Amino acid sequence: MTRSTHKIPNLAKAKWLNEPRLQAVLAVLNTGGGETRVVGGAVRNALLRVPISDVDLATTLEPRDVVQLAKGAGFGVHPSGIEHGTVTVVNRAAAFEVTTLRRDVETNGRHARVIFTKSFKEDALRRDFTINALSCNAKGEVFDYTNGYADILKHNIRFVGKPATRITEDYLRILRFFRFHSVYATGGVDKDALAACTRLRKGLQKISVERIRQELIKLLVAPRAAETLKVMAKSGILRLILPYTEEWRVLKRLPSDAVLRLFVLAQKPDELKDLLRLSREEGARIATLVNAPAITPALREKERRAMLYVLGPEQWRSAVQLSFARSRAKVGDRAWAKLLRLAEQWQAPQFPLNGDDLLRKGHVAGPFIGEFLQRAEDYWIAGNFVANKGDLLAYIEGMNS
Ligand code: ATP
Ligand code: MG
Repeated sequence: MTRSTHKIPNLAKAKWLNEPRLQAVLAVLNTGGGETRVVGGAVRNALLRVPISDVDLATTLEPRDVVQLAKGAGFGVHPSGIEHGTVTVVNRAAAFEVTTLRRDVETNGRHARVIFTKSFKEDALRRDFTINALSCNAKGEVFDYTNGYADILKHNIRFVGKPATRITEDYLRILRFFRFHSVYATGGVDKDALAACTRLRKGLQKISVERIRQELIKLLVAPRAAETLKVMAKSGILRLILPYTEEWRVLKRLPSDAVLRLFVLAQKPDELKDLLRLSREEGARIATLVNAPAITPALREKERRAMLYVLGPEQWRSAVQLSFARSRAKVGDRAWAKLLRLAEQWQAPQFPLNGDDLLRKGHVAGPFIGEFLQRAEDYWIAGNFVANKGDLLAYIEGMNS
């Protein structure tokens, strides 16, 4: 049944697989004539020996039977994806997406019309890459219908079937190919796959921004994101996603932070929020990066503290990381590391003056109060935060006389 020429390890001893809440769900969904296995990312990562995020399940049971069995066992059931065959089963706060095995009957480059099947092999053949097409049962036996284990050993991202065929079924797979390459591959980009992605790249224009953003963000946080993006740029694929800079050197020197990397990659960072429909928080971070001051170890202690106070520790960190990446300093440079650490020990000093203090001194309520406070705060920051309330009141009086 399995075609792999390599002996695939059994996952029976894997800690994640023996997790009692998962085993309980598997036990229930392996009754009633059904068979349920773990599929996709969890099996891939277990065989790659890297941490597992979600555990997704595939089953021969139809969704309504999944619902019935899960409810009968007292599990939580969320049928929100039931029309595509997915039911979320929750056992004591552990959630598992359970998807009925499917076969594509019609594709249009974006969506597939699917029918249910009882065949794990058919389900594997509709998955995108061989490393994603493995499944394993509750006992840890691994099933490999596409020779995916060989590709796992080689850290090779290979399409299931002919790349061009699989891409024209769903053009998002172009971007997924680079995403998985970026995260898991160790060698160069597979030539055949790259040629097909390049030739068919225009199809990406059919894909919704939401799907693109999701893959792009995952690609960006990968250790080899810069290298992968460069290949995508050279093959004319990246420009279909966003107008980009060629700051590869800077990009390579940034930490694994999607927003920071996106900021450096984009030619027009202030258009990113709309272009990729970023979240409010992501958009806000981009906006602060646009205005981030350049930071260098040449800054005086006093200037550092002043900037850190104004920026806050998170923005300070990002501004330091960005400035470091753009500098010529060596990785591990101690002066830069010290700048970064400043945010860790930082306890923001408390500005000792407020509006009530000014009212009590006979100032009239109104917009001047805010302005005085701001100028007093600037004075206090410039003076290394040593001025106390009395000093600041005196400063304001002096300002007015
Ligand atoms: P991650 O840990 O990054 O979430 P994952 O393997 O779980 O990785 P998902 O994008 O969550 O990746 O997809 C889950 C599984 O569904 C994949 O492993 C793959 O088998 C299949 N899959 C997802 N999207 C597609 C697609 N567009 N075409 C074919 N198969 C897909
Ligand atoms: Mg996933």
